Amino acid sequence: MEPYRIKVVEPIPITTREYRERRYAEAGYNQFNLTAEDVTIDLLSDSGTGALSAEQMAAGMRGDETYAGSRSWFRFREVAEDLTAYQHIFPVHQGRAAERILFGALLKPGQISVSNTHFDMTRANVELSGGTARDLPCPEAADLDSDAPFKGNIDLDALTALLEGPEDVGVVVMTITNNGGGGQPVSMANLEAVSTLCRKHNVPFFLDAARFAENAWLVTQREERFHGHTPREVAKLAFRLADGCVLSLKKDGIVHIGGMLALQDTELAKQCELLLIATEGFLTYGGLSGRDLDMCAQGLMEVTDPLYLRERAEATKYLADCAREAGVDSVTPTGVHGVYLNAARLLPHIPPARFTGHALASELYLAGGIRCAEVGSLYLGEIDAAGDLITPAPFELVRLAIPRRVYTRSHLEYVAETLGAIAKNPEKVPGYRLTEIPAILRPFRCRLAQVRP
Ligand SMILES: *Cc1c(COP(=O)(O)O)cnc(C)c1O
Repeated sequence: MEPYRIKVVEPIPITTREYRERRYAEAGYNQFNLTAEDVTIDLLSDSGTGALSAEQMAAGMRGDETYAGSRSWFRFREVAEDLTAYQHIFPVHQGRAAERILFGALLKPGQISVSNTHFDMTRANVELSGGTARDLPCPEAADLDSDAPFKGNIDLDALTALLEGPEDVGVVVMTITNNGGGGQPVSMANLEAVSTLCRKHNVPFFLDAARFAENAWLVTQREERFHGHTPREVAKLAFRLADGCVLSLKKDGIVHIGGMLALQDTELAKQCELLLIATEGFLTYGGLSGRDLDMCAQGLMEVTDPLYLRERAEATKYLADCAREAGVDSVTPTGVHGVYLNAARLLPHIPPARFTGHALASELYLAGGIRCAEVGSLYLGEIDAAGDLITPAPFELVRLAIPRRVYTRSHLEYVAETLGAIAKNPEKVPGYRLTEIPAILRPFRCRLAQVRP
């Protein structure tokens, strides 16, 4: 059960199917165009959507809004230093600002950034810095149904070959957990091997550590060597294997806004300082208020609580298991921050060109007012100017992201029941075609129309 009780509540909109059909048509069948008023259960993102604790609210009240050298900054730095052991800690307004500053200071044009899988914004920031992003997921990641415990790992053979080859690798970034790859964890053995390789080839090694606590939890559960460890011990060890991290505090900081860049190298830190002051804010607040910094510090202490992590992991697995029993499969083993539904298996009559994942996500909204995100050909496929799919994505998935401490098990049961109702008559679900195709940021801004099977 949840190791907390609820003391502040917020009503959620309960709507009718007719209302949702009208609103979704007006929104161009794009869930990013829906508003909060339209959505009953919002599983679009686990980023910045968590519930604050009473202690975080109290910490916020202690926030010190001094421009330079606020008490809040020193409290935040102490917690971040204890967790990561990095010498230079920079607060930023959210994860992508840390990436922009790091890659701007670190990457030379033409250099490669290598990752288990770059998160989409991380990839964009590598490319804006003149670099090229290369993903080397481990082979097990390609099998959605395998029970391999660490499908978020990087392919070590491919990484070794790349580092020994002629190409200029500027940085290795390990995303923990691997969000782009189904929210799968990375093992400590994999991180240790990456660390050794990077030291040997003198390449900086960074963690994209948005879900460092959830990764650490799964390590304590799935990696034998760490069975007796606490998640906090594992997280600390992971940070100590790398040269630094970028971190969106909107995930495992359990705050509504916040991020951090932290690193060891003093020369690199000097360049980051310039970019931080010029684009985010002074060194001791970096685009955050004192209140935010105090709430981030408290969130970083709470998030490694084993009782919290166990319940969160079990609730996510409960949703995946209920959905599977109702006939809807998802990527296994189930991770912590979300359930990745296998839309292609449920809707074989809808080809990737009619956006299978988007079709399932849309039906979840129409049937139950549940909002979520497609991770398939609409998002990752190659699409021409006429809106035709040229190269499909490898998988047609739908991500149900679970906000932290927000929904109870009965909300999750409602989601599973809605999925079960769809699974009774899957052939009735329509496909979609693009009617407006923006050149960039397609999933956020496109419009679509239904295509009846
Ligand atoms: C959310 C996220 C980011 C970006 O962080 P923002 O705070 O949204 O800017 C980077 N990497 C990963 C893995 C993420 O999940």
